[in-house]
Amino acid sequence: MATLRMHNFINGAWRPAQSGSWFESRNPAHPGEVVGLFPESGSQDVEEAVQSAAGAFEAWRALGLVKRAEYLLRVARLMEEELEPLARIIAQEAGKQLNEARADVVEAIHMAQYAFAFGHLGQYGRVLGDEVPTKRCYEVLEPRGVVVAITPWNFPVAIPFWLTGLSLVLGNCVILKPSEDTPLCGAKIAGYFEQAGIPAGVVQVIHGAGETVGSSLVAHPKTQVVLFTGSYEVGCGIKQEVAKHANKVCTIETGGKNAVLVMEDADLEMAVTAGLLSAFKTSGQRCVTAGRLLVDHRIADRFTERFVASAKRVTVGDPMDDVFYGAMINQQGVEKGRRFNELARQEGFEILLDRNAEPPPTPDGYWLRPFVYTGAWRNDSLCLTEEAFSPHVAIVPVRGVEEAVAVYNDTKYGLSGSIITEDYRKAKYAEEHMQCGIFYWNLPCIGAGVRLPFGGVKQSGNLIPSAAGLIPVLTHPKAVTYNLDRKIVMAQGLSAEVK
Ligand code: NAD
Repeated sequence: MATLRMHNFINGAWRPAQSGSWFESRNPAHPGEVVGLFPESGSQDVEEAVQSAAGAFEAWRALGLVKRAEYLLRVARLMEEELEPLARIIAQEAGKQLNEARADVVEAIHMAQYAFAFGHLGQYGRVLGDEVPTKRCYEVLEPRGVVVAITPWNFPVAIPFWLTGLSLVLGNCVILKPSEDTPLCGAKIAGYFEQAGIPAGVVQVIHGAGETVGSSLVAHPKTQVVLFTGSYEVGCGIKQEVAKHANKVCTIETGGKNAVLVMEDADLEMAVTAGLLSAFKTSGQRCVTAGRLLVDHRIADRFTERFVASAKRVTVGDPMDDVFYGAMINQQGVEKGRRFNELARQEGFEILLDRNAEPPPTPDGYWLRPFVYTGAWRNDSLCLTEEAFSPHVAIVPVRGVEEAVAVYNDTKYGLSGSIITEDYRKAKYAEEHMQCGIFYWNLPCIGAGVRLPFGGVKQSGNLIPSAAGLIPVLTHPKAVTYNLDRKIVMAQGLSAEVK
């Protein structure tokens, strides 16, 4: 069978890169299988995409909120019709188990529907009172212009919609740079917008390396907003570049060293389930993955015994099969996970479970099996404080909720966390004192709701959350004042008399 070749989607047309070069996307469960070939774009392709977006902006802005929103509804419907084939592409390209891949698509559909509904609500600013009663004031949300969305591979359909849905409805044009690991998912998104009839230049998808395509988009003087989700190191570099441009804003959503806090009074079954989901779903490759289970010392033995017994049963295998989790994204992901497992040994922790000697589900795929270790909290330990981005989890005994929260806060990250307790006072204490952007009670610390903001504090992001929290980033509020009087009356007692 001929290898699939997909182009960039620029100015409403499918085009190869001007360099004529291509890169491959491979199936992480079966790396011998090439998913497709994608254009290795460069600065000329970026220039074309940015000029097209800038050229499309005025007409798109003038179309109005409701008409723009309707495109998002069309796209949501197309994704609903293609839920299963699209989920299969995610499973094939990202190695995510099929059920998780379906959830990725459903999240994208919800985000597109949310953006549509937002447009139909028509809440496009606020009406405000003025000191001078004959003045009418309002604030209108103006789109900023060209929005660049740079996305990671682990939610290859959902995250692009978190970032582009509201951007478009609010009147911006969007250039999406999908991860090099999941370009087919990015190309499918372009295809849905094309099928929905979006005007040329409003949505563009450009493939290629982050260091070339991504950084040229960030630095381009005609891009006004950069929405980045990915690693802390790349996010920091983007923030530094954006700081050179007075009129450019950016959001960076990065990693975490999240935790589930398990209190003495916890429902143990719930705690074990929350721990397993938080530590191992998506092979531990979620920004909200729990690398730490902070367990009250009075129940630590009982919890550990049950957790390890369950982790022994967790099924790992081909993403298309009915397993708990699928493949790692690539060889670097496997090596990083192995390094963290090795670090736990070198740093003197007690290894409770390492299933990596078991035969891999496929001989050539990228696999890591659950790794569980335990020991006292040390903030100088790298494996306890840095993001492993793999199925690697520590059980750390703590004394009560206050110590659990103090340990939670004792890393440079602050993305998500949860507490398992039957005591609402402990839950309330944790909610108020945990330095995080996403908090759960009696739930795993993974998951995302499109109606809520999604983002972290400290090194997990720059406090401008994505999804529903993005509106202030995508627009600038214009302050408008009308005078309904026949004369000019100034505020603050300022005389309007011309002498
Ligand atoms: P990554 O940082 O390697 O890549 C993310 C994107 O940035 C890719 O599209 C890549 O091409 C691009 N990129 C790379 N270098 C660039 C540069 N110099 N300039 C501009 N763009 C560049 O991340 P990844 O491996 O794809 O994803 C994993 C990371 O993402 C983890 O740290 C995870 O925690 C984080 N993540 C965060 C969230 C969140 O919402 N906080 C969600 C998902 C993933």
